[in-house]
Amino acid sequence: MTLLDRAVVRLLPAVPKPVVRRLSSRYIAGERLADACATVKRLNAAGKLATIDVLGEEIERADEAEAIADEYLDVLDAIERERLDGNISVKLTGFGLKLDLDLARENLACVVARSEERGIFVRIDMEDASTTDDTLALYRELRDGGHDGVGVVLQASLRRTLADVPGLHNVRVCKGIYVEPPELQLQDPDEVRESFVATVEALLDQGSYVAIATHDEWVLQRAQELIARRGLGAHEYEFQMLLGVRERLGDRLVRAGHRLRIYVPYGRYWYEYSLRRLQENPRVAGYVAADMVGRVVPRRLRL
Ligand SMILES: Cc1cc2nc3c(=O)[nH]c(=O)nc-3n(C[C@H](O)[C@H](O)[C@H](O)COP(=O)(O)OP(=O)(O)OC[C@H]3O[C@@H](n4cnc5c(N)ncnc54)[C@H](O)[C@@H]3O)c2cc1C
Repeated sequence: MTLLDRAVVRLLPAVPKPVVRRLSSRYIAGERLADACATVKRLNAAGKLATIDVLGEEIERADEAEAIADEYLDVLDAIERERLDGNISVKLTGFGLKLDLDLARENLACVVARSEERGIFVRIDMEDASTTDDTLALYRELRDGGHDGVGVVLQASLRRTLADVPGLHNVRVCKGIYVEPPELQLQDPDEVRESFVATVEALLDQGSYVAIATHDEWVLQRAQELIARRGLGAHEYEFQMLLGVRERLGDRLVRAGHRLRIYVPYGRYWYEYSLRRLQENPRVAGYVAADMVGRVVPRRLRL
């Protein structure tokens, strides 16, 4: 990122919400479930799988958490009804983790029960480091209870991650989006990359199913080498990317015969997610500037 891009990243929270909405539209399917279904159909037609995320991190009350869990039940019904090739990704804070562990456990159990009726996989996203222990514990509880259609996420940037690998069956590996103190999180991007590859390798060594979630070409190359060296079949792992990010790179993976799953977020609570995606975009300053110019300069003068 250039200095200008970094400055714009710091200023993003001050950018008016309608501008953030326009800039982030590529990252979000829309506000309604129908928008998510239409996006998944388009992805499926292009040979890509999907995982649907109901945006909802600003949970302050139990009834809000229950509403998100209810929305996921509708998503599961829609996946079955519309024959979508997709599954769901859930955030435990959206189910009330920061209010009450039991509330999150109940909401998760309810969603997992419906997903099992429908034969649809549930991925539990990983959030900030204060939630790692509880998230892994709830995942292990479910697996120990015989719920095999559930997976979890490890963040390569956390120092603890390799130690968390043993016993995990189905894991998405990502770098990790949350900013944590240096005692918890690797600060050097190259160390994060090395940790990513080491985590994927450790998981493959113990026979876990791994979802490799990154747009980083260096990591993608190393991961493909690990897969080739083990002679894994296309159904023994998958790649994952975010909606609207590096689509041509994803197309290349699909053409090379890999399975690629796209993370498809939708919902009313789009703002926090959008800020995170824009903050990761290396050309954010250009997009903000273009949007501002677009509003200030009349269309006929823009050519
Ligand atoms: C499917 C999926 C699920 C995820 N789930 C979680 C989770 O549960 N918990 C969690 O903490 N994090 C999650 N993440 C986010 C992840 O941790 C990273 O923050 C994010 O993927 C960027 O890291 P990267 O590996 O792509 O590498 P980066 O080095 O950040 O990106 C590599 C390149 O990709 C491009 N790029 C990346 N982001 C953007 C963008 N927004 N716009 C345009 N270009 C971009 C840039 O060219 C960049 O140089 C998930 C990511 C994916 C793909």
